[in-house]
Amino acid sequence: MAYSKTTKRTFLNVAEATRRTMAANSSTETKPEVNLRKALWAAGLRGYRKNVRKLPGKPDIVFGPRKVAIFIDGCFWHACPHCGRFVYPKKNADYWHEKIESNKRRDVEVRAQLERQGYTVLTVWECEVKKHLQDCVIRVRQALGAQTQV
Ligand SMILES: [Zn+2]
Repeated sequence: MAYSKTTKRTFLNVAEATRRTMAANSSTETKPEVNLRKALWAAGLRGYRKNVRKLPGKPDIVFGPRKVAIFIDGCFWHACPHCGRFVYPKKNADYWHEKIESNKRRDVEVRAQLERQGYTVLTVWECEVKKHLQDCVIRVRQALGAQTQV
């Protein structure tokens, strides 16, 4: 039939990604953001600011004095290479290709801008927060430690 298993899965990914984006836009935070922040707090990594608008790309979490900026990226919108959740939708393939590619280009651009301002930039994937939350905390801790030794 026309609707293969893959097609169905693609539709689900799009619906899910859209839902998350809407949640993010309505100033409600996404679950991975909340979960990571809670874990950082519990680990004693505090004093961060969230959704810092004055920095390029509006990083999700920023440790200002130590200049560490963290993005929690949605696996669909940023084409996560790790978990296999990212699949190009077959329908409107050109549109999606351009959309995702431009997201990826912007991610690279934003990272470069922040690094020019002296920031260490950390990208944490949605799937990492879900499956390896403590590893994410360790990465943040390392980034903060690396900065203080400079
Ligand atoms: Zn992922």
